[in-house]
Amino acid sequence: MQEQIQDRAIADPEHIAISKSTGIKIDWRDGHHSDYSLAYLRDECPCATCTGAHGTDPQKSNYSKPELFPMYKPTLRMESVEPVGQYAVRIFWNDGHSTGIYSFDHLRRICPCEECKALAQSKLQRESGAFK
Ligand SMILES: [Zn+2]
Ligand SMILES: [Zn+2]
Repeated sequence: MQEQIQDRAIADPEHIAISKSTGIKIDWRDGHHSDYSLAYLRDECPCATCTGAHGTDPQKSNYSKPELFPMYKPTLRMESVEPVGQYAVRIFWNDGHSTGIYSFDHLRRICPCEECKALAQSKLQRESGAFK
């Protein structure tokens, strides 16, 4: 049996520009461009700790949200970015966090551009509608 997963573009980066102090830009092979800020990437960390995948409370960071009680926080930076096979990158943050493996699939899904945000929104609405 063959399953067709073709309802979206294949996450295939053509060029990745990494700046440790500003973020990551990706040119996708299908012509799409994504521009991720550091705070956004850190907050979208897909690791089990940040997402609560082990049944624990998600330890999601909130670097991109305005602080209710501003505290001193060191400026977020990436210490290094390592490729993981052909499909992902691992980001080492200066706050000590380094368990996030960002697959290109994940990155494409969290693309913060208006077009992708609108697409994700309509998908969400479709999905929540299906459960009514
Ligand atoms: Zn994480
Ligand atoms: Zn996009």
